[in-house]
Amino acid sequence: MRYISTRGSQQNLSFLQILLAGLAPDGGLYLPETYPQISKQTLDSWRGLSYAQLAFEILSLFADDIPAADLKVICEKTYTSKVYCHTREQDDATDITPVHWLGDVAVGQGQTSIGLLSLSNGPTLAFKDMAMQLLGNLFEYVLARENKELNILGATSGDTGSAAEYAMRGKKGIKVFMLSPKGKMSPFQCAQMYSLKDENIFNIAIEGVFDDAQDIVKAVSNDLAFKAQHQIGTVNSINWARVVAQVVYYFAGYLRATDSSSEKVSFCVPSGNFGNVCAGHIARMMGLPIEKLIVATNENDVLDEFFKTGVYRARKAAETLHTSSPSMDISKASNFERFVFDWLGRDGAEVAKLFKQVDTSGGFDFSNTTQFGQIAQYGFVSGRSTHEDRIRTIQQVANTYHVVIDTHTADGMKVALEHLTAGVKMLVLETALPIKFASTIEEALGHPPGRPSAFEGIEQLPQQVIEMPPNVQAVKQFIVEHTK
Ligand SMILES: *Cc1c(COP(=O)(O)O)cnc(C)c1O
Repeated sequence: MRYISTRGSQQNLSFLQILLAGLAPDGGLYLPETYPQISKQTLDSWRGLSYAQLAFEILSLFADDIPAADLKVICEKTYTSKVYCHTREQDDATDITPVHWLGDVAVGQGQTSIGLLSLSNGPTLAFKDMAMQLLGNLFEYVLARENKELNILGATSGDTGSAAEYAMRGKKGIKVFMLSPKGKMSPFQCAQMYSLKDENIFNIAIEGVFDDAQDIVKAVSNDLAFKAQHQIGTVNSINWARVVAQVVYYFAGYLRATDSSSEKVSFCVPSGNFGNVCAGHIARMMGLPIEKLIVATNENDVLDEFFKTGVYRARKAAETLHTSSPSMDISKASNFERFVFDWLGRDGAEVAKLFKQVDTSGGFDFSNTTQFGQIAQYGFVSGRSTHEDRIRTIQQVANTYHVVIDTHTADGMKVALEHLTAGVKMLVLETALPIKFASTIEEALGHPPGRPSAFEGIEQLPQQVIEMPPNVQAVKQFIVEHTK
């Protein structure tokens, strides 16, 4: 399998060559030259596989420069019931991504079933663990093989940073320097990150907001000499290995939801940077029988606007709202370019032009074009949700099905209910557990959500965090001192 850039000027790289890379040198994102095709027979032959075995089958199509025996070990060690154990009580602990059927819903004269694809059983209780845990093991593997070291620098407002730390903790050859905005995360999120005692994890609380932390990461990454000298890398959501790891659970969800591969299933995906639903698009391009891919946004509705109108308009920082589903608060969707590349017939020059236009004039407009008319053939539809919708949906799901869902999953559920088709099962991706967003759950239900037993009292554990002013030089110096 060879990889190319969505902007056309980068070609013929292998999986391991792009594993540690962010953007391609031409500013594009990496994608495989072609998508491997999965026949119905192959799909049916995967029905008996464990999640780790299924991950191996799918990843080996994309990472064919890792010897099969090694990739197998990496998958087996990543997707274990010990790592993904924070599942709801009634689950089979060996199932990494169980499906919870909520019930049957009437649609017109017919009906369908709606379920949650539970992706939040990993150490940080959000779906980012699904890909990040694999990345930790892949990074450790490739660094050891090439006798290299990597210092990961990142900024987080909560979810991504903790998923990265839990994936990289204790990994040989890797150090993590994670900047977070001081006093801006929930007590639970702070406890998750700051209570880690691993020597390779450094939490730095910046006296400022998330954008200050993000700006420091950009400034350090733009200092190419410093970056090279200190082996600085990132684990952001455009990393190809993260996207491809997420392809696996669309297959797993499909196989659990169906008895035969003649059936179609729809997926509804709470979306921010378009990483998660991009994996669904790739699964569909590989031949997985997906009827609809439903993009659910919150009030930050860049993507909903695009799929409804053909106008892509990135938001300015001041227009980006802080909502009660904060992990979807984005101004532009960094993985969206991958879909646009496929949709526009893989024309790299055109994609380069469009996304340069996003930087210079804020967006592009495909309304009233034949291309926009063709978008339906990719299965995409969309919807948006507000704080009031989330509250109502959390109440509705709790009252009707006796299940408490988190705020992001509630955005997905709200939009899924608007797109049901009789006879086509609907899976809503559960992207976090409710305990992570306890105050909104309390607002909706009048009581806090249940807490997995492993997280009892974590706010009381000793915390380790270094506080710093928003100063690039101070952060650089800290990295220098701690990578000697
Ligand atoms: C990151 C995140 C999302 C958005 O996922 P994208 O891949 O950025 O679209 C949704 N829900 C939760 C809980 C998240 O952490």
